[in-house]
Amino acid sequence: MASQPRTDDTSKDRSQLRQKEMMARHFDRLADAPDTGEKVVYTFVPGNLTELLLAFDVLPVLPEINALQAGMRGKSKDYIALAEKLGHSEDVCTYVKSDIGMLKSGNVGPTGKRLPNPDLLLLSYTGCFTFMKWFELLREEYHSPVVMLHVPYQGDGKITDSMRQYVVEQIKRKLIPALEKITGKAYDEDRLRQILTLSARAEDDLVWVLQSARHKPSPIDAYFGGVYYIGPIFTSFRGTRDAVLYYEELRAEIEERLRCGAGPVTPEGEMTQEKYRVVVEGPPNWTSFRQFWKMFVDEGAVVVASTYTKVGGVYDLGFRHDPSRPLETLADYCLGCYTNLNLPTRVEMISRYVREYSADGFLINSVKSCNSFSAGQLHILREVESRVGKPGGFIESDLVDPRYFSAANIKNRLESYFQMLEQKKAGAGTA
Ligand code: SF4
Repeated sequence: MASQPRTDDTSKDRSQLRQKEMMARHFDRLADAPDTGEKVVYTFVPGNLTELLLAFDVLPVLPEINALQAGMRGKSKDYIALAEKLGHSEDVCTYVKSDIGMLKSGNVGPTGKRLPNPDLLLLSYTGCFTFMKWFELLREEYHSPVVMLHVPYQGDGKITDSMRQYVVEQIKRKLIPALEKITGKAYDEDRLRQILTLSARAEDDLVWVLQSARHKPSPIDAYFGGVYYIGPIFTSFRGTRDAVLYYEELRAEIEERLRCGAGPVTPEGEMTQEKYRVVVEGPPNWTSFRQFWKMFVDEGAVVVASTYTKVGGVYDLGFRHDPSRPLETLADYCLGCYTNLNLPTRVEMISRYVREYSADGFLINSVKSCNSFSAGQLHILREVESRVGKPGGFIESDLVDPRYFSAANIKNRLESYFQMLEQKKAGAGTA
């Protein structure tokens, strides 16, 4: 195995500890919200409007994050079983069923404390019909007001002025008045600009961290490690000083790894030999996250770029939140998230990653739950292969339903795939 074990938890990097502490503080505030009177908005990850929520001092809750945390903590299985018992079909996205099951079991969040009811459900409709159905279910439970932001799909692969204005108008006419109503505060554009300035700083550092994987060996794993790096920016912390500090620290740690020529840190320890460099498309499996990661580590495979780390928003094509046009920039962020991109754009993005990150190939993890990711993945596989001349692999699992993570099958497929990469490399060497 090309890694050296880390001995204990005290070897956690400062950035990891900071993130843990940020999360704990946030969930404490949520648990205390019924007493402190802080207002709570449930919303989704892709293209979310965290900065606007923070400008009104409301606390965001991201149901997808609660579901993935339930998956990692081994709780989603029972939550899903409960939701199915209540009549939700096996075909429904397992994030939804995990969330409903959690709600029906007392709505206890990832830190063991109860989550407050929402004062508002903010649905940004970004490429996923399930989001709409999900919040219809939550509205039935909580009877809270809903604002639905209709975000046009990037069918032609670009954001036009009229698309942008359409979203801005909805923010102005529907969302801001709703936030003013629940908080009793007036919209303060200067405050929003300050928050957006902090977002852009953190985004610069995150992009630098993800692009560090262009080096050989890569100092990071941009999929399994990457999901930790995107945590603060895609959830409740974008636009905060905490997030700026977290990404500064993370960047400094990766700079140090680069200076030493070190490989990524994994749960199995530090990878000392980078045998294969791959790009991954699709979300990870959360119920067997470590086991899944270990399958890559055991083969000496490092993920150098992934689409999942763009699920909230795509920054590496140049987008940054821009405080000089506050509402327009929020609209652009909503419109530009990965699940709102059309297939040709996704194909182009993955092909670019394979080339720019000198990958040996690419893998698609097709999750049963999520049509926003899975639709068209076989087409993506063929298209990217023909464009970059590198082999693609295809594995299937799920987000948080352990019934769809077949370890033996996935391991077999990965081993065959890496053997094929090995043969290609050997062939290239003798040619
Ligand atoms: S279908 Fe996909 S994008 Fe939609 S809620 Fe489920 S995981 Fe999220």
